[in-house]
Amino acid sequence: METVEPELVRVSIGTATVLGLDITILKEKPTTAYLQTYWDGRCIANCKFCAQAREATSEMLRVARALYPAYPTQKVLNALKIASEKRRIFRVCFQTVNYPGMLDDLENLVKLTRLKLGRRIPISASTHAISKENLEKLKDAGVTNMVIPLDACSKKVFDEIKGFKAKSPYRWEEHWKTLKEAAKIFGDGYVGTHLIIGLGETEFEAAKIFQKLYEEKIYCGLFAFTPIKGTPLAEFEKPSVESYRVLQLIHYLTYKNKLKLKNLEFDKNGNIVNINIERKEILKAVDSGKPFQTTGCPNCNRPFATESPTKIYNYPRLPTKTEIKLIKKQLAKRIPQFGGEL
Ligand code: SF4
Repeated sequence: METVEPELVRVSIGTATVLGLDITILKEKPTTAYLQTYWDGRCIANCKFCAQAREATSEMLRVARALYPAYPTQKVLNALKIASEKRRIFRVCFQTVNYPGMLDDLENLVKLTRLKLGRRIPISASTHAISKENLEKLKDAGVTNMVIPLDACSKKVFDEIKGFKAKSPYRWEEHWKTLKEAAKIFGDGYVGTHLIIGLGETEFEAAKIFQKLYEEKIYCGLFAFTPIKGTPLAEFEKPSVESYRVLQLIHYLTYKNKLKLKNLEFDKNGNIVNINIERKEILKAVDSGKPFQTTGCPNCNRPFATESPTKIYNYPRLPTKTEIKLIKKQLAKRIPQFGGEL
């Protein structure tokens, strides 16, 4: 396919600042450049949490809490080159909405980025479920990490939030099929998904899907649900920080192969009531601070994508000692075998 340059590309405000395209005050700098293919219209799909969904009435330039204004593609590519040479960014991430021609735009943008930056920077692409041929095209264009967001922790929640009950074209089975095909094409450890905590799943369902994903060698980026004005979930609440902390810890221990679903005890509502592994393993993980950092592709830190500066769900860097103290207090409310103390 001949490379055609899309005129515009969306850039997150934080990224635009790091690239020198905008000036905002950043409390934390992104270490990945977050971009999105540009489309002057709404997405074909209708995910209930998304500002860009077909029936949403939100601002189009919003993705979760972040704004993504559009810039001329050449300007962005030149700025990416400088930022990567100065080691201000360590990855480029292309996010997409679903519209006719999106895959061509994405393939072109990836090729142009590769041409400009050479091979030194990994490129992530996040799309809905696509065919094997299209996965192969994206790999040939230069994508290193492929992400197919499930967003939901269970089929039931998926159907409700981004499947047929949401009048959206997506199907749980198709997403899983693409994840597994992508794992064969891109290799173990180069395929991931996104999971949004707080869409109505139980903690049991979240813990179960973490285990399934890591058995399939698929990594996952955890997000805390963020209500957006103009979407059907605008009045939904964010998950409690305490529940999110427990799930971050379970996710990390699962990823590290220190914990299986059978090591967890749940109450009748599917809430975790006990973690039956050695206390010292839990303490080691908590003290490292790593479970509470942003997860996903390497060097993806997504500062304030789903949090306000005063209520942090994912830390965009290792938490400080003071922050770990606070995290321990949050966890102690939920892990009773520690007698309220970690
Ligand atoms: S985990 Fe981060 S870098 Fe990877 S696709 Fe998601 S937002 Fe992009």
